[in-house]
Amino acid sequence: MRIFDPHIHMTSRTTDDYEQMAAAGVRAVVEPAFWLGQPRTSAASFVDYFDSLIGWEPFRAGQFGVRHFATIALNPKEANDPRCRPVLDLLPRYLDKDAVVAVGEIGYDSMTPEEDEAFAAQLALAVAYELPALVHTPHRDKARGCERTLAVVAESGIDAGRVVVDHLNEVTVKLVRDSGCWLGFSIYPDTKMTPSRMVELLREYGTDRMLVNSAADWGRSDPLLTRATGEAMLGAGFSDDDVDKVLWRNPVEFYGQSGRLDLSDLEDPAAVDPETGNSILRGGS
Ligand SMILES: [Zn+2]
Repeated sequence: MRIFDPHIHMTSRTTDDYEQMAAAGVRAVVEPAFWLGQPRTSAASFVDYFDSLIGWEPFRAGQFGVRHFATIALNPKEANDPRCRPVLDLLPRYLDKDAVVAVGEIGYDSMTPEEDEAFAAQLALAVAYELPALVHTPHRDKARGCERTLAVVAESGIDAGRVVVDHLNEVTVKLVRDSGCWLGFSIYPDTKMTPSRMVELLREYGTDRMLVNSAADWGRSDPLLTRATGEAMLGAGFSDDDVDKVLWRNPVEFYGQSGRLDLSDLEDPAAVDPETGNSILRGGS
């Protein structure tokens, strides 16, 4: 089973995690910039964090044979802190980097006017830099948060096919599916979505535009729940090809839209276009 975890915060994880993930089949990850728990007191603090997401962490992942990509943004929670707002001006410098495959995590935490503004500004950056966008949905008041999220996405003019709306569940899945955006599901050990509930959603809604992640971070979480979901799919009668689509080809297709997802060292020869010799996994232009 080959696995691409499209949302995981490796900065908060140990080398044991990397080892176990690699053994479980995780070959590539995307690490979105997010809230680190401890409030940051200045934009300079983000510079060091962003630099580590595109420098140190890919190096660390490489020690375990895992490819590491990042998404960069001012996260929804810290968008409310005036000390962090200048981060918005730093983003263009990072959105030009090859290791950055989307703008994210953006979206809503408490749905404040400050979050509205940062969300819209960063969707505009995604359009300007021709990058996909990773959108976090609030954990409280999910349905309303999701509706408002989709309205802002539609208003921004970004192509829905270049947006993943994340942390979905049974309440929000249909709304997002009907919007044309990609659907992200974070599988957690004891809250939110579980592998068996995920399997039910895949049965009901199919495997198109579906992304499964562990969203493992500094809280109680488990980087192996992508693998557990693949196994739950097989146990429920899904084929190896279905599992490969959800856990590998879908995230590759989504982030491939950045034109920066070079996985040529990981792929099998069949994935190389015989005419041009180019990797089809690179996607985009
Ligand atoms: Zn996250």
